[in-house]
Amino acid sequence: MKQGILNLSREEVAEFLADKGAPKYRTNQLFTWLFRFGKTDFSEMTNIDLSLRRALDEWFYIYRPRIVRSDKSIDGTIKFLLELADKNTIETVFIPETKRNTICVSSQVGCAIGCRFCNTGYHGFIRNLLPEEIVSQFLIVKDYLDLWHSQTRPPPKPPQSDLLLGDTEHRSGVYSNVHEHSSTGSTKEETDCGRLVRGSTERLSNIVFMGMGEPLLNHKNVLKSIDLLMSGEKDGISRRKITLSTSGIADILKNIAKDLPCRLAVSLHAPNDSIRSKIMPINNVHNIKSILGACEEYKKYHEYLKITFEYLLLDGINDSKECAQELLRLLSNQTCKVNLIQFNSWQGSQFKASSRNKTLEFARILEDGGIEAPIRARRGEDIMAACGQLK
Ligand code: SF4
Repeated sequence: MKQGILNLSREEVAEFLADKGAPKYRTNQLFTWLFRFGKTDFSEMTNIDLSLRRALDEWFYIYRPRIVRSDKSIDGTIKFLLELADKNTIETVFIPETKRNTICVSSQVGCAIGCRFCNTGYHGFIRNLLPEEIVSQFLIVKDYLDLWHSQTRPPPKPPQSDLLLGDTEHRSGVYSNVHEHSSTGSTKEETDCGRLVRGSTERLSNIVFMGMGEPLLNHKNVLKSIDLLMSGEKDGISRRKITLSTSGIADILKNIAKDLPCRLAVSLHAPNDSIRSKIMPINNVHNIKSILGACEEYKKYHEYLKITFEYLLLDGINDSKECAQELLRLLSNQTCKVNLIQFNSWQGSQFKASSRNKTLEFARILEDGGIEAPIRARRGEDIMAACGQLK
């Protein structure tokens, strides 16, 4: 039976090929085709000799999920609904900005953590994602936006109406039944085979593990996928551009702190255990003290990477001046940043966003106390792609 090559690390591929008698440089060539040129067919890897290409095709497949649907926000954010081989679905979000393009990836189908403010948690947990299912979220967005290296860009496809490309085969890297649902209506950008015309930033520069799921509860596959994303030949993403966001599974964070090669963001959302437990039941298992202890362990190995604490402002719950002052005291000896997040509502949620004035006041108290506290811009709210809205 064929294996998914994107489930193997670079070292595992090298070892496999060495066992088959292939020289070491073949691994580099293979990774270049996979991660620099986005190839999904071994026969197109033309600098690898024909017999090895045929053998690769017998041993491996190159995974892509199927894009079921893509919705484009008025602010340019695109949310993808992806179908996996077992028909489960996940969501991935592309967030374009002036100086960078970020992709927000999922690490699980659903989530078991059950944060009260989160649509994903509300719908429960199904299963962990495989490395190939994590990495391919990044790859398929590059396919969709045509961001691969120009030398291998395929010839233009004839325009089609509803379909982006023709028929599909699940693992062949093409799409089927893809519909654009732009909140801005049909734009000029979307008329070229449904593809977006590329903007000034032509790379996917940043990856955040802030989609569906708790990455630390799938840490083996998540670490392998980060390794793959960083090891992509030349176009590999730097560790500084990858952020793993966790609700704070303290014992796992402590255990893998040394091996976590990227930035860390912790969803704190409250200045004390009493408030946090009300909105994040996981706090009854991993309280704030244990999480900050695990963060110390991470800092031992990553002094140069500042930790971000995420703080979702919920009206009347955690947004008072007193909460801001308590948070300031809690984090007074941390070298960190606090990202203030405005709540994005979803059907069935019991919370309301804090007012603009309260949000600004909260930020001012933290900033006056010496903690950087940017208010994160809302992105993709109109297509339910914003923080906490994925399901
Ligand atoms: S916020 Fe994150 S950890 Fe909490 S339920 Fe949602 S996906 Fe899970």
